[in-house]
Amino acid sequence: MSILPTPNSRKHNFSAGPGALPFEVLEEIARELPDFRGLGISIMEMSHRSKEFEGVVADTRAALTRLLGLGADYEILLIQGGASQQFAMVPMNLGPGGVYLNTGEWASKAVEEAQRWGETFEAYSGKAETFRDLPSEEQRFDGPVGAKYLHYTSNNTLYGTQFHHLPRTNLPLVCDVSSDFISRPVDMTRFDLVYAGAQKNAGPSGVTIVVAKRDVLRTFKGDSRVPTIFRYQTHAENETMYNTPNCFGIWVVGLMARWVERQGGVAAMEVLGREKADLIYSAIDERPDFYQGHAVKAVRSLMNITFRCATEALDEAFMAEADRRSLISLKGHRKVGGMRASIYNAVPKESVAALADLIRTFGR
Ligand code: PMP
Repeated sequence: MSILPTPNSRKHNFSAGPGALPFEVLEEIARELPDFRGLGISIMEMSHRSKEFEGVVADTRAALTRLLGLGADYEILLIQGGASQQFAMVPMNLGPGGVYLNTGEWASKAVEEAQRWGETFEAYSGKAETFRDLPSEEQRFDGPVGAKYLHYTSNNTLYGTQFHHLPRTNLPLVCDVSSDFISRPVDMTRFDLVYAGAQKNAGPSGVTIVVAKRDVLRTFKGDSRVPTIFRYQTHAENETMYNTPNCFGIWVVGLMARWVERQGGVAAMEVLGREKADLIYSAIDERPDFYQGHAVKAVRSLMNITFRCATEALDEAFMAEADRRSLISLKGHRKVGGMRASIYNAVPKESVAALADLIRTFGR
């Protein structure tokens, strides 16, 4: 008897995170889990200091290095604490003196954590317009004298906005890429440091991916009060195994990275991502009298699509019909309301087509 469901019994999953994983990857996990590479134990039961697990970490880092096109001057940490912990680690290691673009709920949290640590500059806030827009490509954010870095959020998961350009600045760039990591080509040489919780585009929750310039990670310039575990240097010098890592999660991030490579890499993910997003946005735009998108069109996200009907009662009816059709996790975040469809890398085009069909038939 197979322990796996069939692909047909799977729901159309639009969860914002933890998000969908490819069925192919779930099959790989199920096959390998009880007896990892013939060792007679699972990956969750072996020492993180073993040769085998060191190999898993090396494989995962290598696959991510290839996907991101990283040069030898960049390094990858696979740690814990989520992107939320990075909100604190960034100022503790690189600051104070960060310049922040406040483009949403998570960006606001990053600002708050930086403020706890010292002087912080909020150079942009989209709050007054419910974060439906982003800074334009022309705007510059050089920050005041003494500014250390520019922090922004490439994709705003709750509001459904995404930067389609890099902010102009003379400061080192730091970015929370949690919800659009490995979904499109990015010139990583422009960044000093990026971080992402894995649970949207790159695997299960419990693994935080930090990609940064080697010298940024290895040279600690922070305050002596910063605890050992909150220093990038600690994790870099211990080859990301200072303490017991999320062994299972790191393995799955590697499987996911190799799955993206098999699809053609981040460039192919972007093409597919655009096709998927177009299917939904065009269905919404056909009926402006019935559906309203939350984000300004120019900054619409390819990952999280936020929209609503004219009344909350219609939103509820939409989601009830979605549920009947096995389309799940479409409820918008409580701060935004309406619906949110998260269509990360692993959400199949068929699921997206099923949603576009629902949007059209419900609108009628
Ligand atoms: N940043 C962004 C853009 C997010 O979407 C999220 C999670 N939804 C977070 C940060 C927080 O991540 P974590 O739960 O991994 O701390």
